[in-house]
Amino acid sequence: MAQLVQRYLDRIRAEHTGVTDGALADYIPELARVDPDGYGLSLSSVDGFVYESGDTAVEFTIQSVSKPFTYALALAHLGADAVDAVIGVEPSGEAFNEISVDHLTKTPKNPMINAGAIAAVSLIPADSPGERFAMIQDFYSAFAGRRLELDEEVYASEKATGSRNRAIGYMLQSFGVLDDDPDEVLDVYYRQCSLRVTSTDLAIMGATLARGGTCPTTGTRVADASVIKRTLSVMVTCGMYDAAGDWVSAVGMPAKSGVGGGIVAVLPGQLGIGTYSPLLDAKGHSVRGVRLCRSLSEQLGLHFLTVSRDSRATLRAVYEPAEGIRVYEAHGDLLFSGAEQLVRTAERERADSDVAILDVTGVDDIDDAARALLSDMSQALCADGKQGFLVDPDGTVVGARADLEAIRFPDVGSALTAAHEWLAQHQRIPG
Ligand code: GLU
Repeated sequence: MAQLVQRYLDRIRAEHTGVTDGALADYIPELARVDPDGYGLSLSSVDGFVYESGDTAVEFTIQSVSKPFTYALALAHLGADAVDAVIGVEPSGEAFNEISVDHLTKTPKNPMINAGAIAAVSLIPADSPGERFAMIQDFYSAFAGRRLELDEEVYASEKATGSRNRAIGYMLQSFGVLDDDPDEVLDVYYRQCSLRVTSTDLAIMGATLARGGTCPTTGTRVADASVIKRTLSVMVTCGMYDAAGDWVSAVGMPAKSGVGGGIVAVLPGQLGIGTYSPLLDAKGHSVRGVRLCRSLSEQLGLHFLTVSRDSRATLRAVYEPAEGIRVYEAHGDLLFSGAEQLVRTAERERADSDVAILDVTGVDDIDDAARALLSDMSQALCADGKQGFLVDPDGTVVGARADLEAIRFPDVGSALTAAHEWLAQHQRIPG
C-alpha cells in the first residue's frame, strides 16, 4: 500500500498543473527570470515526516514569508508587551507595501505588511546590521532544520530598487518607530527577504510552528509556545494581507505568502504545508499556491475550525495478539493527520505482519478525508498480498461502502477469528 498519502497529494497538486494565470513578480529582474512553470508541494507532519510532490527542490527567495519569523524572533527577545508598543496586531486591509501607520498610534498596523516587518527587523537586539542579519538567518535556519543561504543577486537588486521600502523606512523614523538608521534596518530587511528556501523548507518551518516551536526534523526547540501562538494569531488575521478574510473562510490555516512564489500554511498541532509556484495574482499571492491550499483544505479537511482536537492522540494502541496479526486501535476524532499517522505506522510495520486489524470502535467522529484514506488502506493491504480487517461496529469508516462490508467486524474477537482463518487458508500459520 505504498504511498497512499503521497498519491493524494500528487493528485491534488495535479488538479492545478494546467493553471497558468498570473504573472511573475517583475520589480526586479531576478524574479522575472525564474521558470514560470515551477510548481512544488511539500507537507510535513509534526513528527517530521515529509511528503514532496513536484518541484520541491527548486530554491526561490523567501520574500514576505520571512515576516512572521522575524516577528517571532522579536517576540522571543523582547516579549509581547515591548513588541506591541511598536507594532500592532490589527489587520490593515491594505496592500503589503502600503505607506501607512495606524492613525492614532502612528505605529505599523501589523507585522505582516512591510511597515510592520521593517519595524520588526529594527527590534532584533544586535550591535550591527551584520549581527542582526546573522541572528535572523540562524533563526530561520533553525525553523527549517537546515542552513538557509542568501541569494546575493536578489539582495543586490532589492537594495537597488527599494524606493517604496525606503519611503516606509523614513516614514517610520519620522514617527519615532525606528531608532536606528532606516537604511541599515532596510539592508537587513532586504537580506531577510533574499534568503533561499524550497517548498520543503517552508513545510518544515510551518511544521515547527505547528508543533509549538520545536523543529520536527532536528528536535531543536526554536521558540516558546507563547511566541508561536502570537505569531500564528497574526498570520491568521494579517498573513494574506487584504485577502486575509477570503483565505480564512476558504482555507482556514494561518499562512504567509511571498512574491518569490512561496506560501507557508500551518495547521496547529498537525502539519505544515509549503507550496511554490511563482505566477502571482494582483495581490502578490501565488495563484496556484492559493488554489492548491484551498483544495488541500477542502479535500483533506484541514480548516482549523473543523479540526479542533489534537490528532496525535488518534492512535491509542498497537499490539500483536498473535504472530502475524497486528491491531491498530484508534480513538477520538479521526481526521486527515490522524489517519495519515495511522497509515504511515501500518505501512512502516507491514513487513512484520500479514493481517492488520484496524479497530475504530473508540472513534467518535471521522471526516471524509480520513474515511477515504482508511478505506484505501484496507484495499491496499489486500493488493500487497496481506489482509486488512476493520472492527467497526457503528459503520464509522465503512459508511455506505458495500465493498468494505466483507472485511467489517463488530468486535476484535470476531476479527481475530477471521484473521486466524485467513492465515490458515494462506498457509501462514504461525509457528
Ligand atoms: N521584498 C518584497 C518587498 O518588501 C517582498 C514583498 C512580498 O513578498 O510580499 O517589497
